[in-house]
Amino acid sequence: MKCKEIVKELADYLDEDLDATLKKSIEEHLGKCQDCRLVVDTTKQTIQIFCNSEPAPLPAETRNKLHHALAKHLHHRNVTP
Ligand SMILES: [Zn+2]
Repeated sequence: MKCKEIVKELADYLDEDLDATLKKSIEEHLGKCQDCRLVVDTTKQTIQIFCNSEPAPLPAETRNKLHHALAKHLHHRNVTP
């Protein structure tokens, strides 16, 4: 699992909309990669603020913006895939 793949699956991961194998791969990566852990934690907190702590799926537009922002973030930090 690479950082770029984490970003790709992040929205589904946070929605708990992944199969168990993929979820496990992501969690393994998060255990090793501080950058991705930070991104996941920040995103989780942001979603909780937006949704007022109520579980709600991310709207498609938010997902797209999120993906775009994260991809840009990873690119800027020069994280090699
Ligand atoms: Zn990573």
